[in-house]
Amino acid sequence: MRTVYVNGEYLPETEARISIFDRGFLMADGVYEVTSVLDGKLIDFDGHAVRLSRSLNELEMKNPISKEDLLEVHRELVRLNEIDEGLVYLQITRGSDGDRDFAFPAPETEPTIVLFTQNKPGLADSPAAKKGAKVISIEDIRWGRRDIKTVQLLYPSMGKMMAKKAGCDDAWMVEDGFVTEGTSNNAYIVKGNKIITRALSNEILHGITRAAVLRFAREAQMEVEERNFTIDEAKQADEAFTTSASAFVMPVVEIDGVALGDGTPGRVAPRLREIYLDEMRKAAV
Ligand code: PMP
Repeated sequence: MRTVYVNGEYLPETEARISIFDRGFLMADGVYEVTSVLDGKLIDFDGHAVRLSRSLNELEMKNPISKEDLLEVHRELVRLNEIDEGLVYLQITRGSDGDRDFAFPAPETEPTIVLFTQNKPGLADSPAAKKGAKVISIEDIRWGRRDIKTVQLLYPSMGKMMAKKAGCDDAWMVEDGFVTEGTSNNAYIVKGNKIITRALSNEILHGITRAAVLRFAREAQMEVEERNFTIDEAKQADEAFTTSASAFVMPVVEIDGVALGDGTPGRVAPRLREIYLDEMRKAAV
């Protein structure tokens, strides 16, 4: 049984309790982060801690824990649950003042903080990454502040189910004709030596993996163009891929039934995956 962390306590998962009035439960009034663990160490913890602060600030939510203490809780959960490869999930909600109301509770209401681990042996050496993912395109009907990492994940979940029904792995969302992002990842296409991905805005999540991968790409003399692209342009690309903290760099080999290149992961995405994993393992804490 897992040990989880709830509001300052380490508990067996079956003994962890949250109020039914918690705003996370009633209103999806909460934010989250997912940090990968490789070799028992945290990948890009700093990046996640910085984005967490930003999400909380944007929602005028109190941060209940310092960065140092948060790191300590992550490490302790990894240790207690003997995670070698896996994930640490963190969620902070606006808490509960014991009733349901649209208005935010009194400012002194304590946020709820929950962390748990997921054991994922073979996370880095994933067979899915060797095969590449098939994606479908769907309309992006999410709210306008996708840069805040909230727990409102109903539409992304529905998108994954639509992909599954179509015999695919994931969905890329499209707004005003342009790809925003994947259901749980940032989206890229490759043309020659050029990597093309949508620029940062309120329309997409500012991926922690995106920042690192673009940095490594530029350091490897690849050209990076941050601009919008359409599904039609993507179908004609040499390659495509996604990035996320939990799947790293994932080649995309098919979009809406159209194979990219020869339908196998290309040259750029697998190389970026390798560089990313090497560099991030070295910097893990
Ligand atoms: N976009 C969305 C919608 C996501 O849910 C995620 C994963 N949380 C990402 C992008 C990738 O972000 P990161 O690299 O920080 O995991």
